[in-house]
Amino acid sequence: MTDYYQVLGVAKDATQSDIKKAYRKLALKYHPDKNADNPDAEKKFKEVSEAYEVLSDENKRQMYDQYGADALKGGGMGGAGFSSMEEALHTFMGAFGSGGGGGDFFGGAFGDIFGGGGGGEQSYARQGMSKKAQISITFEEAASGVEKEIAITNHIECSDCHGSGAQSPQDVKTCGTCQGTGQLHQSRGFFSMSSPCPHCHGAGKVITSPCKTCHGNGKVKKKERIRVPIPAGIDDGMRLKMAGHGDAGEGGGPRGDLYVYIKVKPHDVFTREGDNLLINLPVSLTEAALGCKKDLPRLLSKKPLRFTVPDGTQSGKIFRVKGEGLKNVHGHGNGDLLVHIQVETPVNLSQKQKSILEEFQGTEGEHNSPDRKSFLNRVKSFF
Ligand SMILES: [Zn+2]
Ligand SMILES: [Zn+2]
Repeated sequence: MTDYYQVLGVAKDATQSDIKKAYRKLALKYHPDKNADNPDAEKKFKEVSEAYEVLSDENKRQMYDQYGADALKGGGMGGAGFSSMEEALHTFMGAFGSGGGGGDFFGGAFGDIFGGGGGGEQSYARQGMSKKAQISITFEEAASGVEKEIAITNHIECSDCHGSGAQSPQDVKTCGTCQGTGQLHQSRGFFSMSSPCPHCHGAGKVITSPCKTCHGNGKVKKKERIRVPIPAGIDDGMRLKMAGHGDAGEGGGPRGDLYVYIKVKPHDVFTREGDNLLINLPVSLTEAALGCKKDLPRLLSKKPLRFTVPDGTQSGKIFRVKGEGLKNVHGHGNGDLLVHIQVETPVNLSQKQKSILEEFQGTEGEHNSPDRKSFLNRVKSFF
């Protein structure tokens, strides 16, 4: 005899959340859409769905704990588990909340299946499929903000039948099989279970004469051009949600959303660290020692930024120029410009330059290299 706890791999005192988690994992693993060539998967899928159907309902669970599975299957049912795949799938849909037909759960869409759900009551209205797209912009565009247009092929409401799928409103009839409820109720032992009406697929309505434009779908494929306002300060990998720009919903449900992933091309001169801009500024040995003025390029302006390198600047030093960084994407002010000094040791010296440096070396004292002095003091004890 089947042990529902064992089937789901949970303890006897498992919480509802444990049970749901275990079921979702197994149901996804054995879902028929994913196991086209595994005949055992369907049986497994029914088994775990049946176990979940019982354990997820505190009343049924209590009865099962007390009397065993037979009490639940009632009278003549006896036999093994869910009689039909449809019931198992119904349980599956319930556990995952809203969502489209089979394919939507895997790959294609988003991780939505692990979000909401839980109510168990399956309502026919559901949101349309969400889409994703990528927009590639330049570093400058990310800094200034930009508007881009993208084309997305969506399934949108058919304008000829306004989504009804029927040639005229008179061609939409209440489904006779379920009397318009979209559900069929069956009594099983102590309970009554419901499953979507197979005739109208849960819609409660049937179409006697389908719309010629959409062939009764209620939706047509359409390439839509969507303007995407990209805010200043956006960073590589950020995602913008364009609500309502996905597929049309079902049964009056809202349209899906469009998620736009932003790809920012790297810049030749600038990199970013959060809202700060970072620039590497190479200076010569004498410039670092004597101090100098440099014109730094600006990301969004032709006008250079005058920057003073003070005398005695060490290599690796980072200077901060307040407010010259990127706009914060949420509107919280500006980042800073970080100027990273890179002192270049002179190379390719001429004979003359060498002798000048040698002469300089002869005059060099400890006070010219304070770091070197303290380093020598610290390592003295080793010798
Ligand atoms: Zn029906
Ligand atoms: Zn139509």
